Amino acid sequence: MEAAFWLFVQNVIQFAMCVIGGHYLISAFKERRITAPPARISAGQSALVGMCVALNTVVAVAGWWLWKEGVIHIRTELNWHALVDMTVLLLLMDFLMYVTHRIAHLPLIYPILHRTHHLEELTRPVSLFMLNPLEVFGYGALWLGVLYVYPSSWIGIVLYLLLNATFGALGHLGIEPFPKHWLSIPILGHLTTSTFHAQHHLDGEKNFGFYTDVWDRLFKTLSETYAQLFETSAEGKSMLLAPQVEDTF
Ligand SMILES: [Zn+2]
Ligand SMILES: [Zn+2]
Repeated sequence: MEAAFWLFVQNVIQFAMCVIGGHYLISAFKERRITAPPARISAGQSALVGMCVALNTVVAVAGWWLWKEGVIHIRTELNWHALVDMTVLLLLMDFLMYVTHRIAHLPLIYPILHRTHHLEELTRPVSLFMLNPLEVFGYGALWLGVLYVYPSSWIGIVLYLLLNATFGALGHLGIEPFPKHWLSIPILGHLTTSTFHAQHHLDGEKNFGFYTDVWDRLFKTLSETYAQLFETSAEGKSMLLAPQVEDTF
């Protein structure tokens, strides 16, 4: 019971960091909007967010229980191997989340699993927590399945979870904080940006990846206008926003 309490506290802190950090970036880069800002959040949406944080805790408690029961093995050593663990977890989850995200958009599955998240066409940091409960458990099952097949170190798991929350928050900002030349940087340029996921919320047929764009490139689901929209957003001249009328008087 005590573990459940602390896992709940950890999830609330993670939620607060995503929202506070996200809004800090929105105000720091307010001239770099990708889309128009969304309407105010409704009471129903707030309830959905609260439920998602609670259900994330249920997944964490399930993981803790599986570890206590010896089903999931976690290594305790503290060394550089944690970076390998983090990378393996990130790449494995990146591929599996791309595949399951494609499945979530199939016409039969979409209404019962994924539509709730897409009700937010214009996103904000809390959009990350607007999910159907089934989707929260689906991601949780995938994550615990990966931990079952790959016995990571504790540090590797913590680093992955931090990156997962960071990518999730960045993807829903509605502004583009990444540097203008990000996409031309070797390797790093293939990590997803805010524009990448903002475009998925506008066109559910494109940009299914979460951490990298490699699967979208390989399976031809990358938006043709991604690079162009990224560039215009990072320059503060998003092609999705109405052009500003110059005051010529
Ligand atoms: Zn999203
Ligand atoms: Zn989607």
